[in-house]
Amino acid sequence: MDKTADFLIIGAGVIGINLARNLKKRYPDARIIVLEKETNLGEHASGRNSGVLHAGFYYTKDSLKAKFTKLGNEALTQYCLDKKIPINRCGKLVVARDEKDLPGLYELLERGKINKIELELISDKEARELEPRVKTHEMALFSPTTSSVDPKVVLQHLYQDAVQEGIEFHLGVKYLHYRDQQIGTNAGHYSAGFVINAAGLYADKIAKDFGFAEDFTILPFKGLYLYASNPAEVFKRHIYPVPDLKNPFLGVHFTISYDGRVKIGPTAIPALWREQYQKWDRFSFTEFKDIAMQEMALFFKAGFDFRKLAWNEVKKYNRAVLVRHAAELATGVLKNNYTTWGKPGIRAQLMNTKTRKLEMDFILEGDKKSFHVLNAVSPAFTCSVPFAEYVVDRIHK
Ligand SMILES: Cc1cc2nc3c(=O)[nH]c(=O)nc-3n(C[C@H](O)[C@H](O)[C@H](O)COP(=O)(O)OP(=O)(O)OC[C@H]3O[C@@H](n4cnc5c(N)ncnc54)[C@H](O)[C@@H]3O)c2cc1C
Repeated sequence: MDKTADFLIIGAGVIGINLARNLKKRYPDARIIVLEKETNLGEHASGRNSGVLHAGFYYTKDSLKAKFTKLGNEALTQYCLDKKIPINRCGKLVVARDEKDLPGLYELLERGKINKIELELISDKEARELEPRVKTHEMALFSPTTSSVDPKVVLQHLYQDAVQEGIEFHLGVKYLHYRDQQIGTNAGHYSAGFVINAAGLYADKIAKDFGFAEDFTILPFKGLYLYASNPAEVFKRHIYPVPDLKNPFLGVHFTISYDGRVKIGPTAIPALWREQYQKWDRFSFTEFKDIAMQEMALFFKAGFDFRKLAWNEVKKYNRAVLVRHAAELATGVLKNNYTTWGKPGIRAQLMNTKTRKLEMDFILEGDKKSFHVLNAVSPAFTCSVPFAEYVVDRIHK
């Protein structure tokens, strides 16, 4: 097999596939190969997320997240409609648990205005008209354009389109190293005019091989989901709390899936190795050592309250604690109705090792030979179409 590409992309998640498709549009004659270490698609974040197409009101105006969430939501909504992929256009409520949440609620409203997102400030009574059991203190926000899809189905369609467009996927091929302009893999050496790293949880490691991501490391944060087993629990809209805007996670919430099922989560529990989905799954001692050291350093020296965040999150392994958090958002939420754990996902959250801060936005680094997508955390699934266009523009320039 010829292993020479004009563009070689590492990682066939939603970012890698969209990058490949955008490159093919721009360079129709180029040979584009995507390496994916798994034999199936969607084994990591792109197939293990909440499936929410976010609206775009959480992010500060100068961020890439603000720039692409609205456009990305529109692009994937249209894609789903065109391809007849199920999409639940359920909308979302953001509620204030008490007086202290109100400034955050108004801040989100303001960010929504600046980012030109359709968003309504409504009274508690109006919120209950939309979702009878919702609890909120005085006011709530309603986002009509937040929706849900099955991320694996979307990914599969994008993949099929990419294959039809002439992009080659080498599944089960793992990038191992970069030496003497050659990409070493478990299936031999590849060479490429240009390398793009979209490797999710391993993007920082690969970037370092190319001389990038010097000040960064990825910390994995595990997202657990708990499904409602009782139909009486069914809500029609996503219900989220006002998040702590200082950290990148959105707090325990109710998500409505594309087919109307209700789940609580995801959590953001610090994981001890990158793909720690279940028990000793994919355990790596080297990763465990590195990550444990970084997390300990954060625990004692972080510039933000990592200790509180970590401790509060770890407690959510306990079903009762998770349900108790969710019960702050709606009435009649009972532990006995939430008994089924869903498939967890792990966030590839980037930390700056100098400032010891969790990065809030997508980060891109590269040169004439390679480009690296770092911190493609939520809502990167939503953003993926316009974000890929932006990355390809940057590469082109
Ligand atoms: C719990 C959770 C909930 C989320 N909810 C949402 C949401 O509701 N809405 C939203 O917009 N976003 C959400 N996100 C974020 C979203 O899922 C990610 O931002 C997005 O999937 C990132 O895509 P990716 O292609 O960068 O990463 P991935 O999907 O992780 O893809 C990277 C790929 O690279 C491969 N790879 C890694 N190393 C190598 C190697 N050495 N060689 C070859 N291949 C390699 C991996 O196998 C993987 O398939 C959520 C994420 C999580 C974890």
